[in-house]
Amino acid sequence: MGQNSDAQERAEELKSVVGKGNILTDEPMSEHTTFKIGGPADLFVLPGNADEVKKTLEVLKTAGMPYFILGKGSDLLVDDAGYRGAIVSLERFCEIHVEGTKLRCGAGATLKDVCAAAEAAGLSGLEFACGIPGSVGGAAFMNAGAYDGVTADVLESLAALDADGNMRTYQNAELDFGYRRSRVRTEGLIVLEVTYALKRGDKAEIQAKMDDLTRRREEKQPLEYGSAGSTFKRPEGFFAGKLITDAGLKGYRVGDAAVSTKHAGFVVNLGHATAKDVHAVIGHVQDEVLKQFGVFLEPEVRFL
Ligand code: FAD
Repeated sequence: MGQNSDAQERAEELKSVVGKGNILTDEPMSEHTTFKIGGPADLFVLPGNADEVKKTLEVLKTAGMPYFILGKGSDLLVDDAGYRGAIVSLERFCEIHVEGTKLRCGAGATLKDVCAAAEAAGLSGLEFACGIPGSVGGAAFMNAGAYDGVTADVLESLAALDADGNMRTYQNAELDFGYRRSRVRTEGLIVLEVTYALKRGDKAEIQAKMDDLTRRREEKQPLEYGSAGSTFKRPEGFFAGKLITDAGLKGYRVGDAAVSTKHAGFVVNLGHATAKDVHAVIGHVQDEVLKQFGVFLEPEVRFL
């Protein structure tokens, strides 16, 4: 009761910051995650510019209300009870500007749209990212990568708010990129804009490469079900999917959550899975792989 009235008060306060239509209460997170799982967030705020993000965070920090920055929710498992705090979605930061061989993109732009813009402009370098269902900000946070590329290869700089609310531009070399890691993640920076440095390329070749990678994904990944992609990080010297297959866990199921029979590295939502079901599958897979092969599988998926 107390929590709800707090949320209502913050919602009223934030209306003057982001506008009435850009603040939602009790918003189901199952509608904002690719897993299609997650209970309601007390507040769901959609700031439209840097100043609104800054002011939103000031209001939340002053009130002592927890908050979480959301991209496309493609690497998240949100609890069935939802989130007691404010989800700050950057989906309104979706502009993409082509400037010579550079692309300047809002943090909420989808990689799909960014790749389409690169292809249309005949710019090469982002082909690897065309099937990653995340946002520009989420990709910088995770140093998202696939096949022969990672974000760090093409990200020139980004504009972000630091923990004290100061806006700064960070160059690639300052971002401490590693495997599924970056300074965005370690320091909790809030990315608002990313500039990618690309190369002139042949449009037909760029398109052919994107088509090829898309076909390879469709063949190997269970894209017909909700998921958050690879559930586990790649353990050094092994492949998570192979360990899980060798442990006999393909198809292992709790409720509607299961280890995909198509790609054992994915836990999928077969219909109405709960976060509890997914946690049960993840826990069992970790226990079995540790018992059988002595390897600990660290989740890549983030829990909220
Ligand atoms: P979210 O899930 O919304 O958030 C993830 C984290 O990033 C959160 O901690 C969030 O706070 C933070 N974050 C998001 N935006 C910002 C921002 N603007 N500033 C600061 N922090 C931010 N990943 C790969 O790397 N390679 C793949 O090949 C791949 N394939 C996938 C295939 C499928 C079918 C699915 C469902 C997922 C796949 N993923 C893959 C995982 C996921 O798409 C990526 O990790 C992606 O980068 C997450 O971006 P997002 O916007 O969805 O982030």
